[in-house]
Amino acid sequence: MRFIPYGNQCIDDNDIEAVTRVLRSDYLTTGPQINNFEEAITDYVGSKYAVAIANGTAALHAACYAAGIEEGDEVITTPMTFAATANAVLYCKGKPVFADIDPITYNIDPKDIERKITKNTKAIIPVHYTGQPCDMDSILEIARRYNLTVIEDGAHALGAKYKKRNIGTIGDMTTFSFHPVKPITTGEGGCITTDDEELYERLKLFRTHGITKDFSFEQGDNLGSWYYEQTGLGFNYRMTDIQAALGANQLTKIDSFINRRREIASIYSNELKDLEGISIPKQLDNTSSGWHIYVLKLDPNKLNRTRVFNQLKEKGLGVNVHYIPVYYHPYYQELGYKTGICKNAEELYDGLITIPLYPKMTDDDVWYVIDTIKQVINYNLN
Ligand SMILES: *Cc1c(COP(=O)(O)O)cnc(C)c1O
Repeated sequence: MRFIPYGNQCIDDNDIEAVTRVLRSDYLTTGPQINNFEEAITDYVGSKYAVAIANGTAALHAACYAAGIEEGDEVITTPMTFAATANAVLYCKGKPVFADIDPITYNIDPKDIERKITKNTKAIIPVHYTGQPCDMDSILEIARRYNLTVIEDGAHALGAKYKKRNIGTIGDMTTFSFHPVKPITTGEGGCITTDDEELYERLKLFRTHGITKDFSFEQGDNLGSWYYEQTGLGFNYRMTDIQAALGANQLTKIDSFINRRREIASIYSNELKDLEGISIPKQLDNTSSGWHIYVLKLDPNKLNRTRVFNQLKEKGLGVNVHYIPVYYHPYYQELGYKTGICKNAEELYDGLITIPLYPKMTDDDVWYVIDTIKQVINYNLN
């Protein structure tokens, strides 16, 4: 029987050659491929700097560190994200504060961000959920007024645009993930983009133990070339050259990946927009989504989500749910977060199903997904 996952990588012989070339070279890590990949990212995104890092979670952790998040600091984010977004704040001993989503775009609602600001708020982490950019003008305006750092979680949104501006050039820092289901892949991997030189230096330090060899050589010849200094507490969050070579090669194909994602999403929207019992994701005119995932919202009065989900799965669709609101998880409940704090996110979660979407899907796959959804939904309507 056929099985169509919700997301999947797209690797060709060229990618494999790029990787094997590195395996035959002198550097497996922290060699020329890292610089090359970082330059390719800054060229593509249009940011001044990029820091390649071990994964998207490490990118968020590094960004929170660079923003100076410490014990007692509050950081506002959305519950409609992967737990890593909020976990990064906890890694820095900060407190994640959840602002509700807009029920139309499913992205964080700027009005609720402002309601959740206290004297301890230091940063905002908007997540471009499904690849559709958040309302960045409103978020930046609030950030300016309250002097907050904006870290965009762009894990879904490499290649997306907000009012013609590339995601990765808008907030103080933007993080990306190169996990296999994301817009491009390095196996595991991530990066942070920024235009701020000071943040860039902090990000680089954090990636490699807080150790630097770049200092002013005021003491001149007194320092031997073995010398280095640890000036902060960083981690080993380095990306390998093997991964960076794959990433740079993947990036040459990102436009075709995203065009295919857009094409599939548009067929889905056309075919499913009038189907009773479900809502398709609303796209704003001034944004261009990276279409990382395509989510359906079921009307709980007409359809039982669990039943529909299981039947889609039985018919070979690798459906998923993105996301369980972060604070529903037992770990967060034990930290004191209560159910009910973000009503729109909770309501969305109750009806969510992620359906397959990735560049390698054939037209036949796409129509199988559509026909299966129509059949299952119609069968289940009350
Ligand atoms: C995938 C993802 C992450 C984490 O990235 P990893 O590379 O898996 O560590 C963080 N935030 C969001 C929204 C994601 O989708």
